[in-house]
Amino acid sequence: MDDASLTNRPDLSAFWMPFTANRQFKADPRLIVGARGLYYQTDDGRQVLDATSGLWCVNAGHGRPEIAEAVQRQLMTLDYAPAFQMSHPAAFELSTRIAQLTPPGLDRIFFANSGSEAVESAMKIALAYHRARGEGQRTRFIGRERAYHGVNFGGMSVGGLVNNRRTFPLLPGVDHLRATHDPARSAFSRGQPDAGAEFADELERIVGLHGADTIAAVIVEPVAGSGGVLPPPKGYLERLRAICDRHGLLLIFDEVITGFGRLGAPFAAQYFGITPDILTMAKGLTNAAIPMGAAAVKREIHDALMQGPPAAIELFHGYTYSAHPVACAAALASLDIYARERLFEHAAAMADPFEAAVHGLKGRAPISDIRNLGLMAAIDLEARAGAPGARGYEALVRAYQAGLLIRVTADTIALSPPLTIGEAEIADLGRILGDVLASLE
Ligand code: PLP
Repeated sequence: MDDASLTNRPDLSAFWMPFTANRQFKADPRLIVGARGLYYQTDDGRQVLDATSGLWCVNAGHGRPEIAEAVQRQLMTLDYAPAFQMSHPAAFELSTRIAQLTPPGLDRIFFANSGSEAVESAMKIALAYHRARGEGQRTRFIGRERAYHGVNFGGMSVGGLVNNRRTFPLLPGVDHLRATHDPARSAFSRGQPDAGAEFADELERIVGLHGADTIAAVIVEPVAGSGGVLPPPKGYLERLRAICDRHGLLLIFDEVITGFGRLGAPFAAQYFGITPDILTMAKGLTNAAIPMGAAAVKREIHDALMQGPPAAIELFHGYTYSAHPVACAAALASLDIYARERLFEHAAAMADPFEAAVHGLKGRAPISDIRNLGLMAAIDLEARAGAPGARGYEALVRAYQAGLLIRVTADTIALSPPLTIGEAEIADLGRILGDVLASLE
């Protein structure tokens, strides 16, 4: 008998796992077999508090029957309709509903199947827009260090995570702003750091280097997520917006994480009061039940492309599964839950207790910084001498054993619980994580 039949576990060898240390994982796997509300159930029968909303995506908590029923109904009514030159009613209904949540003016919705594809779509729309206006030489993109915009070639190129970039060829004509993290001045800030608005002025320098008329768009996460939860310094996004306006650059907010209530508002755009020209979303759009991504686009940008003969296809871009009926059903059911349960308001109310719990961990381990905004936070553990990432991985494993799922990148712990979390569970999260941190060498 092999190991798998002894433990009732599947054979682990064929699945090449994404963004995973495959050999390490398979030697000591963590398998989740069920989920309800705020908790995962493990294959050894334990309940684990999901302090990560899966991967920042299960905003309304797990196992929502309303979503399951909507998906089942849709599958039995219309499982699939062609996405090109054809469509189905739920696609239009969902677009209208999303446009009611996005900032005013961003009311034209292009669908994809993931955050990565939403980003590629946004970048292509930016290029097509400039070309349609006779400014086809605007092809450069400006991203930012420590940004994550998914793994396709465009998003990877504007992204700023070295391990994701070093192995692959990148788009030409991409430049990067510096990341906004400034621990010397802003370590242990609660919410947005006071210092650092001037980091946005780098954009002016980059424009000066390349010439504004060569740049299509600037893309940023309003709060960098996967790069370590980096809330923007106060005034930073305002300055980026102003510089983009001065030079005719489109501003793209990648809200794949910050969308759907993570900061206590529908989108970070409303939270910060800054309106981008294109806004990408995914994850919480369907509560992660079915893959879906989208780009919300300013009407003027859309309209600039609605030129020429009506029989001409305006944008040569799309996916077999753009606005997939089942994903639309899951998204509509998710948006209903967010509205009915006032989950964005609830998230806003939980931001302070969450902040207090997370900053209360200072001193429990060698920690160099703690950052938070809304229901997202990060804790930087000091790296062990000669073993970067070891302390972080140990925290992940011990927390999981202690009944808490956290996300760890190198030695940074990220927390993003479902918006349904209450004060009692926030206290549990703080207590379990505090004990885990205190146990680390
Ligand atoms: N953009 C941002 C800001 C993200 O955080 C992510 C994923 O975490 C992506 C894009 C890529 O999304 P996906 O993994 O669905 O392709």
